[in-house]
Amino acid sequence: MSERKRPIVAIDGPAGAGKSTVARRLADALGYVLVDTGAMYRAVALAATRAGVPWNDGERVAGLARGIVGAHSLAFERDGALGVRVKLEGEDVSEAIRTPDIAQGASTVSAHGEVRAVLFDLQRQAGEGGGVVLEGRDIGTVVFPDAEVKFFLTASAEVRARRRHEELVAKGQNITFDETLADVKERDARDEGRAVAPLRKAETAVLVDSTPLTIDETVAFMLVKVREVAPAL
Ligand code: C5P
Repeated sequence: MSERKRPIVAIDGPAGAGKSTVARRLADALGYVLVDTGAMYRAVALAATRAGVPWNDGERVAGLARGIVGAHSLAFERDGALGVRVKLEGEDVSEAIRTPDIAQGASTVSAHGEVRAVLFDLQRQAGEGGGVVLEGRDIGTVVFPDAEVKFFLTASAEVRARRRHEELVAKGQNITFDETLADVKERDARDEGRAVAPLRKAETAVLVDSTPLTIDETVAFMLVKVREVAPAL
């Protein structure tokens, strides 16, 4: 292991693979800090919507993101059940960033290199000390290529859409399974196809296909892998 006393655990993978739940459970089991990088992109997308800045205007969205980060207006607080609570200019936007519309916005703003550069710095600061679980799309490939433990968590598009659909319906959102599946596929294509930091498995990442696994089984498998790298835990 590097000079870090406790490892960095990177979890990347496509939308709806169960990263958030698994990352939260893993962080709890290990006593690590949890960093949800998708929430950062979602918060920027929400801020852009509110400021009337189009998601596809990379320069303006990046300017907005720089302002938010510079003013420390974006804050994350650990919340037991939810994972991470997100505050934007003091307002709790944890629910507001979880709509399908903002998911599309996050996927659009995250395709701009200038926006990624702003959040890259924030993510590096949050994770570099170790003892942290970071979840996202490019943690093991770009943000922390030196992470001690890397996972690529995936599942079939249908299974991911089904899980996401159940989640959204439980939250009272009016969306069909087919719409959710189309949404998942559209985000996959954009995340995998973008020029900057596309979604892909890091060579050294452990591939975890959660299609046939329960959350408990997935977490148990990943904990074994982390403990192989950090046996003292
Ligand atoms: O993980 P989550 O669904 O919250 O991420 C929202 C969007 O943010 C993703 O579809 C992806 O486009 C983008 N994202 C990213 N890089 C990350 C995390 C999220 O591009 N590290």
